[in-house]
Amino acid sequence: MGDADYIVIGAGFAGLTAALRLTQAGHSVLVMEARDRPGGRTFTEVGVDNSYIDHGGTWIGPGQDRIHGLMAEFGVPSYKQYVDGESMMLVDGKIYRYGGTIPWSMRPWVSGNLATAFLELRRMCASIPVEAPWEAARARRWDATTLAQWLERHVPVRRARSLLEMALAGSYTSAATELSLLFVVYQLASAGGPDFVLGVEGAAEDARPVGGMGALYHQMAARVADGLCLRAPARSISQDRAGVTVRCDGREVRGSRVIVSVPIAIAGQIIYEPALPADRSLLHQRMPSGAVLKCHALYDEPFWRADGLTGQSAAPETAAAVTIDAGMHQGGPGVLAIVNEGPTARRLTRMAPADREAAITEALAHRFGPNALVPERFTQQDWTVERYSGGGMISHAPPGVLTEFGHALRPPCGRIHWAGTETSAVMYGFVDGAVRSGERAAREVLAADAVA
Ligand SMILES: Cc1cc2nc3c(=O)[nH]c(=O)nc-3n(C[C@H](O)[C@H](O)[C@H](O)COP(=O)(O)OP(=O)(O)OC[C@H]3O[C@@H](n4cnc5c(N)ncnc54)[C@H](O)[C@@H]3O)c2cc1C
Repeated sequence: MGDADYIVIGAGFAGLTAALRLTQAGHSVLVMEARDRPGGRTFTEVGVDNSYIDHGGTWIGPGQDRIHGLMAEFGVPSYKQYVDGESMMLVDGKIYRYGGTIPWSMRPWVSGNLATAFLELRRMCASIPVEAPWEAARARRWDATTLAQWLERHVPVRRARSLLEMALAGSYTSAATELSLLFVVYQLASAGGPDFVLGVEGAAEDARPVGGMGALYHQMAARVADGLCLRAPARSISQDRAGVTVRCDGREVRGSRVIVSVPIAIAGQIIYEPALPADRSLLHQRMPSGAVLKCHALYDEPFWRADGLTGQSAAPETAAAVTIDAGMHQGGPGVLAIVNEGPTARRLTRMAPADREAAITEALAHRFGPNALVPERFTQQDWTVERYSGGGMISHAPPGVLTEFGHALRPPCGRIHWAGTETSAVMYGFVDGAVRSGERAAREVLAADAVA
């Protein structure tokens, strides 16, 4: 007899969903979470006035049915992202205002090159079998190519290339030289294509849960509260014929099976006894995470809206590479989220926090005017130093990894089952993908024990 029927490692969206579904199926579950809070790569700070800031995963979009399903289950409504105005692109010091996804107000050869690159990406996505991208007709060739090489060849106009590089490599919070083209096309395809992943309205940043992601994950955590153990980092998992034993600091728990839902970039920090099969073990060494720094500047009011701006802007190589309006569902302060990714994020994290804030607010003022220079409050969330995320936003595959090791992403290793957004064939990297992976892992565990 174990401590619980099943053990889940990690209380992010994947782990919480798995635990919830197993509990609903009538099983006892222990969730071992390393941090002192649930949520993982989502992290909502709620103020005394009920204001909320999402320091990690924030937005949801159409087609993300599983996160919408959970929100309906727990009575969490959503609200639309503010898009009523123009967005901005800053290239070589010049500001371009535009609507939609492609900045047509730029020089025609720049916009035209961006449009043809999007067409090409859409075409490539259509050829990817998302359950097994390593079986795509051009899988080997694309997996031997970096995103940087593809951009060099297919996006000859320098300004177009630097914008697309920032948008694409930025999504994986890495340099374009680090990323397998096959991985990039697979991730885009898993979410329906580049228009969804890089878009806002009707796309990946279409809406937000009222109250932030925490409005949902706290309710999920409450539903499994009897079995939720915080400050319990799993250090080792051993399995035998009858079950699994998970050792955390100062605690050992036993169950029939375990679902590991930690980011794949840090799954190798757990010791597995006996050792995992070679391909799974080596996969853990080959899917790193990137670097992301997410800041928020809070003002009395969203003054950019009066200037006809959405608050959305992209400016490669500045200290505020991407900005987006992150205001609450009704009123409250004006909030700009500033997201810096990959090499820019790493450069900024080497600065002292006060210097970093000054560099970022100066970049904001250049774009949005002097009002932006002195926010009422400025927050900084540096995911690169989050030990139990291993960086952010998501783990990616460098060249050669998907075709050699991708097949090991999902299959269980004996009594060890794998969840986490990186194991989802649909909406890889999104909160919705995490939820899907948790539901899949719970089904898998139940099916395995039904057969046994
Ligand atoms: C800055 C940022 C912005 C993002 N924006 C969006 C967005 O707008 N929309 C979107 O859909 N997605 C977004 N994402 C991605 C999204 O947050 C993730 O895809 C999702 O939260 C992953 O959930 P998960 O459960 O798979 O992993 P995680 O949330 O990482 O959960 C894993 C859990 O395991 C725990 N853990 C780790 N190691 C151990 C251990 N040894 N023992 C026990 N517990 C352990 C961790 O503490 C964590 O709680 C963003 C991410 C970041 C960082």
